[in-house]
Amino acid sequence: MVDLKDWLNQQREKGGLRTLRPVIHRGKGRLLLAGNDDRELLDFSSNDYLALAEHPTLITAAQEALNRFGTGSGASRLMSGDLALHHALEEAVAQLKGKEAALTFGSGYMANAGIIPALVDRHDLIFSDRLNHASIHDGCRLSGARLVRFRHNDLNHLEELLTEKRGTGTALIVVESIYSMDGDRCPLRELVGLKERFGCLLMVDEAHATGVFGANGGGVIEEDGVSDGVDLAMGTFGKALGSYGAYVAGNREIIEYLINRARSFIFSTALPPAVAAASLAAVQLIRQEPALRQDLHEKITYFKGLLHTGGYGADLGPSQIIPIQVGESSAALNKADLLREQGIFATAVRPPTVPQGTARLRFSITRHHSTADLTKAAKALLKIVD
Ligand SMILES: *Cc1c(COP(=O)(O)O)cnc(C)c1O
Repeated sequence: MVDLKDWLNQQREKGGLRTLRPVIHRGKGRLLLAGNDDRELLDFSSNDYLALAEHPTLITAAQEALNRFGTGSGASRLMSGDLALHHALEEAVAQLKGKEAALTFGSGYMANAGIIPALVDRHDLIFSDRLNHASIHDGCRLSGARLVRFRHNDLNHLEELLTEKRGTGTALIVVESIYSMDGDRCPLRELVGLKERFGCLLMVDEAHATGVFGANGGGVIEEDGVSDGVDLAMGTFGKALGSYGAYVAGNREIIEYLINRARSFIFSTALPPAVAAASLAAVQLIRQEPALRQDLHEKITYFKGLLHTGGYGADLGPSQIIPIQVGESSAALNKADLLREQGIFATAVRPPTVPQGTARLRFSITRHHSTADLTKAAKALLKIVD
């Protein structure tokens, strides 16, 4: 084992040490952090894109479930923790995703760490995008399957690897539809073509797409009209849906199989009733109110427009997640500090979360941001980028 003190000091020196900062107060896209002299910061690091975490409909749904069922679910789904509420949520998710059935998990991390090992083992192959989320990567490693990583969003590279290595066993391709750190989008239609040609299973993580894309908020899968070609449509309730937990949607057989094989589902307590109720309310709300989505997209366009007119030349991507590349970890931390002095909170994303030399400030736009907030942030940002 490494010497802990040495390791921590080294990380601190190279700007790689992760530290926690408690939020004292939060609301309407603003944060009060401990030790920040009572100065409110505009939060550009939240994934609560549609501002649903503070929406009265979700709060009321959670309160009602809390009053009716109490705080905890008391057991796993396969014991006595299985509520009709969980089933209602799963039906709503299946419908949103255009699939026959769905299954909920404690979190997105647990979903990916449970689903992948349930589907493939050491006799099989996984083709995984190099920038896939750590939870996907960990699920792949847990499965024991042979892991083949293709260059980010590079379907030519994937095709080469499939041609060379596909073989005859089970092969799973796994991608995100909107990448969590780069905010770019996977060409799902072309990918479905490839997966059909090579006879693979396709799993798509829509953690950052559900609620934000698609006419009903069903994600890029819905927007690209590819639900039939996606075998496992995974996503979380903790981001645009303003709640907590995760799901996977698929055909009845796959879901029944996962109930029997996904260890992070089987051996873990069911989602608390209030959380399941908030998630259900969110799924219903994003379908009923496309205006929530339109409002968000207008804000995204506005913010990107400000940066471009202000002279920022680099591509800002197709989504609500806007990466501002700065290079080294220390530069990212410095710039994040400078922004914080201007009242803007944006996360410095550093290796190992992203590749070496590509540290960045990650701006995420949410419905909480007013035109004035966006203008203030764009001004502050333009001052510190080259
Ligand atoms: C956030 C995220 C997860 C993990 O979800 P949690 O519910 O936060 O555990 C999984 N995949 C992607 C792409 C994510 O961005």
